[in-house]
Amino acid sequence: PVDRAPEIQEARLKLPILAEEQSIMEAINENPVVVICGETGSGKTTQVPQFLYEAGYTSSTGAIGITEPRRVAAVSMSQRVAKEMNLSRRVVSYQIRYEGNVTDETQIKFMTDGVLLKEIQKDFLLSKYKVVIIDEAHERSMYTDILIGLLSRIVPLREKKGLPLKLIIMSATLRVEDFTENKRLFSAVPPVIQVDARQFPVTIHFNKKTPLDDYSGECFRKVCKIHRMLPSGDDDKEESVEEIRKFKKSRKRKKAMTLPKIDLDNYSVIPVDEGDEDRDAETDDDVAGSDLDLDLGDADSEEDEKSDSSLPLYVLPLYSLLAPEKQAKVFRPPPPGTRLCVVATNVAETSLTIPGIKYVVDCGKVKKRFYDKITGVSSFRVTWTSQASANQRAGRAGRTEPGHCYRLYSSAVFMDFEQFSAPEITKRPVEDLILQMKALNIEKVINFPFPTPPPAEALAAAEELLIALGALKEPLMTGRLKEQQTAKLSCPISPLGRVMATFPVAPRYAKMLALSRQHDCLPYTITIVSAMTVRELFEEYDRPAVSEEETAKLKGKKARLLQMQRIWAGQGLLQKLGDLMVMLGAVGACEYAGCTPKFCEENGLRYKAMLEIRRLRGQLTTAVNSVCSDAGLYIDPKMKPPTEAQATYLRQIVLAGLGDHVARRAQAEELLDDKWKNAYKTALLDEPVFIHPSSILFKQLPEFVVYQEIVETTKLYMKGVSAVEPE
Ligand code: ADP
Ligand code: MG
Repeated sequence: PVDRAPEIQEARLKLPILAEEQSIMEAINENPVVVICGETGSGKTTQVPQFLYEAGYTSSTGAIGITEPRRVAAVSMSQRVAKEMNLSRRVVSYQIRYEGNVTDETQIKFMTDGVLLKEIQKDFLLSKYKVVIIDEAHERSMYTDILIGLLSRIVPLREKKGLPLKLIIMSATLRVEDFTENKRLFSAVPPVIQVDARQFPVTIHFNKKTPLDDYSGECFRKVCKIHRMLPSGDDDKEESVEEIRKFKKSRKRKKAMTLPKIDLDNYSVIPVDEGDEDRDAETDDDVAGSDLDLDLGDADSEEDEKSDSSLPLYVLPLYSLLAPEKQAKVFRPPPPGTRLCVVATNVAETSLTIPGIKYVVDCGKVKKRFYDKITGVSSFRVTWTSQASANQRAGRAGRTEPGHCYRLYSSAVFMDFEQFSAPEITKRPVEDLILQMKALNIEKVINFPFPTPPPAEALAAAEELLIALGALKEPLMTGRLKEQQTAKLSCPISPLGRVMATFPVAPRYAKMLALSRQHDCLPYTITIVSAMTVRELFEEYDRPAVSEEETAKLKGKKARLLQMQRIWAGQGLLQKLGDLMVMLGAVGACEYAGCTPKFCEENGLRYKAMLEIRRLRGQLTTAVNSVCSDAGLYIDPKMKPPTEAQATYLRQIVLAGLGDHVARRAQAEELLDDKWKNAYKTALLDEPVFIHPSSILFKQLPEFVVYQEIVETTKLYMKGVSAVEPE
């Protein structure tokens, strides 16, 4: 029996999924695999674990596990469910990559999908779970896809053992055929339960014109306009008087807007300046819905009077890396006399439902990392999102009453969006995934029941890299070409590969760790690998400074940082290890100073990155200690710089992980063409690549370098560069 607070009980009963409790539980009792589809906010994540708990699916026989593709959802949903059920966080807990509060009393466990994959490596049958729920399956994250493939095999195995495991796949869209109609996955089509949306109508307003690039400025202007013209609630005829009265009292009307990336750290209350508005733009709205009165372009001065623009906007950011306490703010009512405006990334699209949103401003963009399938060269690009996610965004406006979505692009542009985003597994290099699978003794990766398989060339590139790193046993090259290729795609894991698979970092970095026992290099390798994994340690200096004052400030920071690195590292070491020494120096100096926000701010380091590096160092230290029990490693906050000999050895270690990432200065014959000026030639690409301006070696241009990655912006740039000398 669950003892819920009355107000919680009341709110629950309003959720559409409550009406389906019986049919959901019947389907689960009678089928090993069940798919639940329901609009975002219908109550899947918070309620289904509670249904299972109340039906006795936990007790002493096992726990309920729920996977989320995003850390923020795992943490915040476990807290919400604990609160709704009035249970301790020792019982409803979470586990994400770096942290968790799981105890031996835990019965409902929220975790990221990567965490469950690691658990499968330790216990293939997942015997401590009675139910596994794969949440947000529509997001098609790489680990979610792979988990569904693995669970499709684990479920029948558990059945055979007489210890059945229930698998529940939850999705916000009805597009689940990749799971249900895939005979290799589930031979019997699992039942799909659809939860009725009970969504209020959302009027979509398209822009007539699509702004070229200033989507954040456009967002800002649109929000100001909504705030100025559309707040009072008089326009919602369906709303009960009681609700309007409540609204006027609490001023809880909210808006959300979506931007691909935001960088606000603290909320701010900004009073909107009326004069700040560009009135010429007011006729730009193109109404797709019928409710012309609500089109902003038609708002007249009379409506202006009714508006709440005298209220300050209470602006909150919401994005994955934001600290949990700050995230929790969006669920609370804003301070009296203010109006809430949430600036959110995709996390608000389906993972978290912010209550009471009435207006959504959608810039239509998404910021994604794109990879070349074979070379792994990556670039961050802001592109148009898919129709499916634009519709999800719009849907956020209609949870509690009819709402409006302002799309900052035209309907013609929308028609050109792709319908759905492609599954992640088809878009990025898969070497880490393949190593994890081989560690599970899945040798013929090609035969694995992927919901959507990765492209053959990505699989081949991954196997090749893993063979080169020594993580897989090299096949015997006999017979015809075709056979050779098949052999290459089914290599078993090597003992080294097994060790590498236990480290929670990319295979290249895992290899470096596995090699670092000699010369007491492990603490340094752990630090370098952590810094390379976390990425972006330093504040951006590349962006144009807003003012002269800022330019001076940035220059000062940069100089201090360099000085700090020199003192810590010494010129000789900098020469040897290049940017890797810079990273090592930054982490070393920061930890020496106690890793405070002040130190980071003064020296141009990103505090959040430094904290994450600290956690990863801790985790890798533990992992190394458990692989070789005699290592006896610990983290020394006063770590000394490496000796010359150690630096030489570190360079070899780095080269062992990045052996195919070597570049050589362009030769005389290439230099005839101007595009090769200051350029390097790599083994993987035909085009010239350059040392990134942020690199310490940018001006030195050594003959040979090894790089961490190539990122494409205006040119192909190498980042994380150190010099190598041909032996
Ligand atoms: P789904 O998983 O179907 O998208 P959820 O179970 O996440 O739906 O959400 C159900 C309801 O619970 C939503 O109306 C949401 O606003 C509310 N809710 C979720 N988390 C919180 C929270 N931390 N505080 C207040 N309400 C919340
Ligand atoms: Mg959910």
